[in-house]
Amino acid sequence: MKEKRDDSRFVAVIAPEQCKGCGKCVLACPRKILKMGASINSYGFRYAVCIEGSCAGCGSCFYSCPEPGAITIYLEDGRPDPDAPAKEKERCQKKRK
Ligand code: SF4
Ligand code: SF4
Repeated sequence: MKEKRDDSRFVAVIAPEQCKGCGKCVLACPRKILKMGASINSYGFRYAVCIEGSCAGCGSCFYSCPEPGAITIYLEDGRPDPDAPAKEKERCQKKRK
């Protein structure tokens, strides 16, 4: 029997200084838990923030972001999620069918 995935284990963290404020991650998030914040980073960009809600750990935000290092998906214990790339691939393949 397949084990039920516990989504509460994931958290998406956006590094304010790496964000260029394009908003792609906000559009990509299926859970709608990302939004453009009101604060501005030292480069003059309004950066994205994670709002209250459950992160699926799907990796869509990570793959939509043009800035390497702006978004990291962590497991609850603070480790980066090693399965995020595989999950995103699976999601894209399902979408194509
Ligand atoms: S990993 Fe998925 S659910 Fe979590 S913030 Fe990113 S796009 Fe949203
Ligand atoms: S996709 Fe990346 S650069 Fe664009 S708003 Fe989100 S975190 Fe910032």
